[in-house]
Amino acid sequence: MDDNIEEKSKGIDFIRQIIDKDNETGKYDSRVHTRFPPEPNGFLHIGHAKSICLNYGIVKEYGGKFNLRFDDTNPSKEETEYVESIIEDVRWLGADWENRLFYASDYFEQLYEYAERLIKIGKAYICDLSADEIREYRGTLTEPGKNSPYRDRSIDENLDLFRKMRAGEFADGEKTLRAKIDMSSPNLNMRDPVIYRILHTAHHRTGDKWCIYPMYDFTHCLSDSIERITHSLCTLEFEDHRPLYDWYLDQLEIYHPQQIEFARLNLSHTILSKRKLLQLVESKMVSGWDDPRMPTIAGFRRRGYTPESIRDFCNRIGIAKADSLVDIALLEHCIREDLNVHANRVMVVLDPVKVIIDNYPDDKVEWLDAVNNPEDESAGTHKIAFSREIYIERDDFMENPPKKYFRLYPGNEVRLKHAYYITCTDVVKDENGEIIEIHCTYDPESIGGGTVDGRRVKGTLHFVSAKHTVPVEVRLYENLFTIPEPNNPPDDKTFIDFINSDSLKILKCCLAEPYLANAKQGDRFQFMRRGYFCVDIDSTENNLVFNRTVTLRDTWAKMQKKISK
Ligand code: ATP
Ligand code: MG
Repeated sequence: MDDNIEEKSKGIDFIRQIIDKDNETGKYDSRVHTRFPPEPNGFLHIGHAKSICLNYGIVKEYGGKFNLRFDDTNPSKEETEYVESIIEDVRWLGADWENRLFYASDYFEQLYEYAERLIKIGKAYICDLSADEIREYRGTLTEPGKNSPYRDRSIDENLDLFRKMRAGEFADGEKTLRAKIDMSSPNLNMRDPVIYRILHTAHHRTGDKWCIYPMYDFTHCLSDSIERITHSLCTLEFEDHRPLYDWYLDQLEIYHPQQIEFARLNLSHTILSKRKLLQLVESKMVSGWDDPRMPTIAGFRRRGYTPESIRDFCNRIGIAKADSLVDIALLEHCIREDLNVHANRVMVVLDPVKVIIDNYPDDKVEWLDAVNNPEDESAGTHKIAFSREIYIERDDFMENPPKKYFRLYPGNEVRLKHAYYITCTDVVKDENGEIIEIHCTYDPESIGGGTVDGRRVKGTLHFVSAKHTVPVEVRLYENLFTIPEPNNPPDDKTFIDFINSDSLKILKCCLAEPYLANAKQGDRFQFMRRGYFCVDIDSTENNLVFNRTVTLRDTWAKMQKKISK
């Protein structure tokens, strides 16, 4: 599953090896210039983060330049909302494009000229076949294609028709401009691919200026060339497109970047495909692209992930040439490691039940010191309230406990975090048998955890003082999918069939300690024994809402321990 990680630990990855070699031979005058080239047709996901961290990481290491470029060639699927979200996400991850934010649509005029140049050297022609006919003529992996009957039009006629296409004289789909390569090539991408199509659709940046649009393959490689990118890093599915990119660049005799393919990130229990994520959004199975269960960067940010944790994850998975599946537990491990040293510990009771300490004075309140973070002394302390009536978690009490239950039960003594030892003396139930009050006594000598006689207790519970609670809403998340590979569903099922209907639980009656009253959007905490949480964007002054970022159970660390045994 994780040979990527191993490969990384052996030394630098194969891409950096290629760059080192290029710098040695002076292939690009020792320049290193990369880019991240998203299509603005969805929000970025964690797979894109891998690509951003790779492209930007290399530039930081080699002292090069990094561009952010939108490959915005498809006006019908693109939106300004996506452009804005992508810019925000790339910036949040910490990649800096300085003043080099580009759009392929800014190159439309130049691309049009390149297309005319191909026509003029007899390497492109106007074809009247419909989309269906082009598909039929293309052949299959085992059968060669057939030449289009329009393949031998004269250069003059092609030029004339292309200009008329641009002038809007034809309807959508009536004609295309195609590269004249080889209809019998074993590589289907080389069988006279379409270069330009007619689309009478407004573009989010160029408006109504164009009614013909260049295809992605034509645009992408030429945009890299225009920007003088040295190493065009992309995922493996573009390996078969490289001969076509090379062909365009060679025919046009223009600057030639080096394309290098690497394996895309696949993450367990989720899907990384904008098309499928869009399906989840449009069918309202999630609340939006930034739903905290989504594997989008916006989703992870809202969930409470830090940019540092995502960068750490991308470093750990490394770069390889072979596809693999990374366990989502590794990503969770990375955010835990980060929050462990940065999040203050607080007490919040998610499912409260009242405890009355009968021998504690009725009107007394003590303000006790709580260490903010045992991993970081400089984080200081804050005050917690203690009084006669407190709340603990309902599942921290059992009337008839099984063996090895160390929490509260009649006759048992437990420690209250930062406060006293208490012993359960009695339980009060309502007419349905539901516990409404637990009665205890406390040992005044046991403050701060120790007792005079040095006796030990096994259980430590978190609590809040009943008179000092802050009501909060808490949202708990689980994986969005119930199987590790929703992208490869068994039998005749689809990924939709494996959506986890329990992936969101909303708890509306949680009680937090007073310290949380002033928590602000984006603030992160460890709720003791319950996980790491952050304040959600739905939060208001009157309704504090927390997302659980991750639980405290580190399944990744456990797996690693098992493996090393
Ligand atoms: P999707 O497959 O999710 O629809 P895409 O490849 O169509 O994504 P683009 O906007 O074209 O999305 O991607 C921009 C860049 O991000 C490309 O260079 C692409 O190779 C890279 N990328 C996309 N998905 C992944 C992934 N899972 N792992 C690593 N890099 C990725
Ligand atoms: Mg793509």
